[in-house]
Amino acid sequence: MAYKLLIDGNLVDGASTLDVINPANGTVFASCARADEAQLEQAVAAAKRAFPAWAALSHAERRDYLNRLADAVQARETEFVELLTREQGKPLPQAKFEIAGSIVALRYFGEQSFPLETVRETEDGKILEQRAPLGVVAAITPWNFPVALLMIKVAPALSVGNTMIAKPAPTTPLTTALFGEVAAKILPPGVFNVIIDANDLGGKITSHPDVAKVAFTGSTPTGKRVMQSAAGTVKRLTLELGGNDAAIVLDDVNVKEIAPKVFNAAMLNAGQVCLAAKRIYAPRSLYDALCEELAKLAREAVVDDGVHQGTQIGPVQNKQQYEKVLDLIEGARAEGKVLAGGSAVQRDGYFIQPTVVRDLSDDAPLVREEQFGPVVPVLVYDSIDEVIERVNDSEYGLGGTVWTDDPDRGLQVALRIQSGTVWVNKHLDMPFDVSFGGAKQSGIGRESGIDGMKEYTQLKVINIANKAA
Ligand code: ADP
Repeated sequence: MAYKLLIDGNLVDGASTLDVINPANGTVFASCARADEAQLEQAVAAAKRAFPAWAALSHAERRDYLNRLADAVQARETEFVELLTREQGKPLPQAKFEIAGSIVALRYFGEQSFPLETVRETEDGKILEQRAPLGVVAAITPWNFPVALLMIKVAPALSVGNTMIAKPAPTTPLTTALFGEVAAKILPPGVFNVIIDANDLGGKITSHPDVAKVAFTGSTPTGKRVMQSAAGTVKRLTLELGGNDAAIVLDDVNVKEIAPKVFNAAMLNAGQVCLAAKRIYAPRSLYDALCEELAKLAREAVVDDGVHQGTQIGPVQNKQQYEKVLDLIEGARAEGKVLAGGSAVQRDGYFIQPTVVRDLSDDAPLVREEQFGPVVPVLVYDSIDEVIERVNDSEYGLGGTVWTDDPDRGLQVALRIQSGTVWVNKHLDMPFDVSFGGAKQSGIGRESGIDGMKEYTQLKVINIANKAA
């Protein structure tokens, strides 16, 4: 199949092509269209032209389009799932979960709307609030959840009347191209465009005068560049950036019962989740037991190609990240104790053994930085005040988890954590009616939920006096 760009309703070849590697074997398995600057300009111009008519549709009409998109993705669900695993590396059940969630997102945000609201009405007049669409929205997405993170942008942005440019990460462009193919048959020309680059067009998008908003998910360093580049045109921005989430285990838990949950919170999608548990804090009384239990789970985990049944942990998505994670592990070995894993798996592809490290200081790079891979440090604490201070001593503040048999204790800890989301005794429960986002350098703005959807609108106040004089 040919993976093309979508510009102004047409599926087109790129000015050049881009090779896409299957991370499970490190070899090129597909080639897709790569846009140049002229094609980006065409896409932005098409989205700008399409905007007035799309914004003028009734919300019910746009909802129907989104439902048709959802139906069409559903009809090709298996294709999406298999392609996602091949380009991203995640095990098939996780790919299935991502695609199924994306279909729900299209329908859910399609359903939501913002009718005119009356703030107050008096004999003399009234004050209204309108939520108007912004114009052309650019969605810039990363390689860990290429479909889900696109859909939670596309669905609310289109539902409220914006038109779009989508730009996936260059190592996972195919599922976005496939969505473009689906959308080409359904949406009016220009409403949704797909531009694929080799990490070279991002700056052009974020500074483009005809792009009204950038919805970006990616690393904190790139997010800072996006913010800088968007300043020139005072663009609206949503930045979902990195995290260094803590899992805080309280002293009342049954270690054997919670260990698998904490392990999954760290290792899901081979640890490549912004909201993964990236440092685990255990009370001294449970430290040895938890370390051992997590190490056992790491040794037993099935690491393999995501297409094989039973795979728990797939490869790291790309070579650059693979090398970065291996470097962090090497650094940690010098200071701490590697209890399980500790190296690459000797096979083709970007596989790393799930790795658990203990006895690191809070200053170790594996503790302070975002590892974004299948390795996790386990740290010891002596008091709640101390652990909260250490957890909050980070420039990140995305999520976090607390594990305890007493949900009230969990709440008291959660209230003191500086982050956008805290789960108690669960992880990554992200219903679409609940927003998420980062504190501190983990981001700006919210995604998902009604709060997230509002970020695709401009709040306008209309203040009316009944009489002209
Ligand atoms: P990573 O560093 O893990 O590859 P990034 O945060 O750089 O992740 O990538 C997330 C998305 O941002 C990708 O779609 C990437 O192509 C895009 N991107 C990279 N550089 C820029 C930039 N200067 N401006 C906007 N987007 C960019």
